Amino acid sequence: MKKHNYSAGPCILPQEVFEKSAQAILDFNNSGLSILEISHRSKDFVAVMDEARALALELLGLEGKGYQALFLAGGASLEFLMVPYNLMKENGKAAYLDSGTWASAAIKEAKYFGETVVVASSKEQNYNNVPKGYSIPADADYFHCTSNNTIFGTQMKELPTTNVPVVCDMSSDIFSRQLDFTKFDIIYAGAQKNMGPAGTTLVVIKEEILGKNGREIPSMLDYAKHIKAESMYNTPPVFPVYASLLTLQWLKKLGGIAAIEKINNAKAELLYNEIDRNPLFKGAAAVEDRSNMNATFLLNNPEHAPIFDTMWKEAGISGLPGHRSVGGYRASMYNAMPIESVQVLVDVMQALEKAV
Ligand code: PLP
Repeated sequence: MKKHNYSAGPCILPQEVFEKSAQAILDFNNSGLSILEISHRSKDFVAVMDEARALALELLGLEGKGYQALFLAGGASLEFLMVPYNLMKENGKAAYLDSGTWASAAIKEAKYFGETVVVASSKEQNYNNVPKGYSIPADADYFHCTSNNTIFGTQMKELPTTNVPVVCDMSSDIFSRQLDFTKFDIIYAGAQKNMGPAGTTLVVIKEEILGKNGREIPSMLDYAKHIKAESMYNTPPVFPVYASLLTLQWLKKLGGIAAIEKINNAKAELLYNEIDRNPLFKGAAAVEDRSNMNATFLLNNPEHAPIFDTMWKEAGISGLPGHRSVGGYRASMYNAMPIESVQVLVDVMQALEKAV
């Protein structure tokens, strides 16, 4: 029986993605070849890459608006470095919001390139909230933020207002909620949460912001070169791109981001209501910043942990323990998680209340 997979990533994907991927591994498009062995220059794979790039823009409402989508390798972590390489001027500066471990990892890389201003940080509160009320220097080359803090279970609810280019790490909530995506100049996201298997990163770029920082950029790190090569500058991660396309097709059929947002809101409401109602539990993140993707919560009495752990495992749940820097539990409810799985967790929480 398939588990209710609450893992933070790699994580749950839609069932039809597994089924279609399995078929493509055996025989892709009736070609007599596996998706794992076809040439990335073959007509069939070029069509996959083209459709995946176009569909990503379509779902975000960015087609025909001067944006390009790339499927790169190297993980979201490589974008921590590619962003300053492509946008920060020699002697320039960048502004960063420090809202979690991944934001702080991005800041560390930017410091190799120039002055890096941290406009606000919630580090002192163990990142249990998203900083607000900060100002962004008007002379920054760009502002970088993280829309969803996977580890701490917080999510930005408001978009920053600034005239400088905005770069956002959306690794753990891309395609999960409607935003005005035209407010962003670069969006990047590792595939392994809401899009596909690990191995590729979606990078969406407003083309006009490139080529302005005066730096010589090594080819593999140069967004403009990847755009010119239509995301095929070198051999792309063929299978992760294909599986990502299947997920994007699934999302489109479902009704796109507007439809999934409603489902995600219902799932989050169901679980947070139980966290708040059940006297045995408490939420770990500031209520107004709670993430709809990763819900972090704790037992009020840690002595209940062994029995709770046994109960959720017996109910077929996996991947629930929290990250070591928060402790407790983290329920990651990405797009592909059905509300029925959230109900299973809520039932276990209620059964614990009766049992102790
Ligand atoms: N950014 C966020 C918000 C993440 O959650 C993660 C990984 O979980 C990363 C960046 C790092 O991604 P990768 O492992 O693809 O480099």
